[in-house]
Amino acid sequence: MTASIDSEIDRIDSLLPQTQCTQCGFTGCRPYAEAIVRDAAPINRCPPGGARGIARLAAALGREPLALDPTCGSEGPRMLARIVAADCIGCTKCIQACPVDAIIGVGKRMHTVLPSLCTGCELCVPPCPTDCILIEPASSLPPWSDADAQAARRRFEARRARLVREREDNDRRLAGKVADKLAHARAAVREHAGDDPDSIAARRRQAAIEAAMRRARERLAARGGGPGR
Ligand code: SF4
Ligand code: SF4
Ligand code: SF4
Repeated sequence: MTASIDSEIDRIDSLLPQTQCTQCGFTGCRPYAEAIVRDAAPINRCPPGGARGIARLAAALGREPLALDPTCGSEGPRMLARIVAADCIGCTKCIQACPVDAIIGVGKRMHTVLPSLCTGCELCVPPCPTDCILIEPASSLPPWSDADAQAARRRFEARRARLVREREDNDRRLAGKVADKLAHARAAVREHAGDDPDSIAARRRQAAIEAAMRRARERLAARGGGPGR
């Protein structure tokens, strides 16, 4: 991607509401911005941005405004998630789904939504096994603003960076364990150098571990040499 396309995508992304709700059909606001810049998507697919958002995109790109595509959803008031405490079993699935880290709680304990951080994206609702997350109008809060959008983007990016770090740490931990196993397997092969069942089993084990390491390296290479999003 060239620097100029990249900065154009940044410019269009900065006009989007940053709820990361995926209603546009993309995995988040920036992928939608990229599709708009590349003429792969029209400018009317963002319900949270609504008519005002479409007008801003049209002005920024020198295009005609369009009506919001109803297949993406409809424009509405700012919404908030609320967890019904009595029904929460503390499974943490909602925390894993929330793109902006707006839910707090630990395993097997009640979870809570932080209203000032919640974008109302609803992504926490489907994974909840007890259906105890309600999405309600945020009547106590002002309408979603540009400042809210930029803060949500910062939280989204911080979360993404944290997930990458956690995945890298996990990969390193696993790689260390596999290296230990391989060292033991090689020692066993040295110890059992004949054709008896123990020797054959030791060689098979070493070969299986080496094959697993090879597959892991190939998977890592396929996702660009390191953990992705
Ligand atoms: S806020 Fe708009 S652009 Fe961002 S993910 Fe949702 S629909 Fe797509
Ligand atoms: S708490 Fe739910 S609705 Fe609110 S931002 Fe997180 S995932 Fe979206
Ligand atoms: S997904 Fe539902 S049950 Fe699980 S912690 Fe979140 S609110 Fe509680």
